[in-house]
Amino acid sequence: MNNAKRRTVIAGNWKMNFTPAEATAFINEIKPMVAGKDNCDIIFCAPYVTIAAAQAAAEGSNIKIGAENVHFAESGAYTGEVSAKMLTACGVEYVIIGHSERRQYFGETDETVNKRTLAALAAGMKVILCLGEVKEERLAGITREIVSMQTKLDLAGVSAEDMKNIIIAYEPVWAIGTGLTATPEQAEETCGQIRDVLVELYGKDVAEATTIQYGGSMNDKNAAELLSKPNVDGGLIGGASLVASKFTAIVDAAQ
Ligand code: PEP
Repeated sequence: MNNAKRRTVIAGNWKMNFTPAEATAFINEIKPMVAGKDNCDIIFCAPYVTIAAAQAAAEGSNIKIGAENVHFAESGAYTGEVSAKMLTACGVEYVIIGHSERRQYFGETDETVNKRTLAALAAGMKVILCLGEVKEERLAGITREIVSMQTKLDLAGVSAEDMKNIIIAYEPVWAIGTGLTATPEQAEETCGQIRDVLVELYGKDVAEATTIQYGGSMNDKNAAELLSKPNVDGGLIGGASLVASKFTAIVDAAQ
């Protein structure tokens, strides 16, 4: 963190939580708590049906509201899906793509992650692209190979220019929602390995300008240490993004 070349981004992933009324109450509670804390971008990614309420509550504040997924087609016979054109029409700028829960439970692959990413970028959106190894891969000592492969496949066809609109969230799958956190050293090492891949793909300038977050049970207690690492440029936060005091403490750790 604190690299002048890139923004620190603290993003919440609400997952399948919060009705519109609950989202309104939450944003109203946290808005004054994070007001003026401008050393990082603050984003909450919300369920589709909750986005409008959250946006209305966040209006005029330093909080941005994003989505949790997007389809790759512009329109058509894709029951239950939402396109980038629909999201941008609703004023949604940020979208999470490739979250491990989508990969685990909904058949998301690097190929579909890539297609969604290209569609979101084409629509002018900013993408929070999630990737990371599962426990067996970490134990087998192949984390670098896995994140390298995911980075290359997920970003296929993404230009150096488009990288301005990509945030990478390194999320070891074994740490998501489990209470297990990567050590600051593990987070730093793997975020650094992802940045090395970006150097290979796009050169040093783009790699150094790209925000790489850590995600996986980041909370009010461990955020400061994780965020102190030079290659960790913020956090993607699940559980702790549902509790205003915990999320605010993470924002404070990023100041
Ligand atoms: C996430 O959903 O991206 C996440 C990191 O969840 P948690 O913070 O609950 O582990």
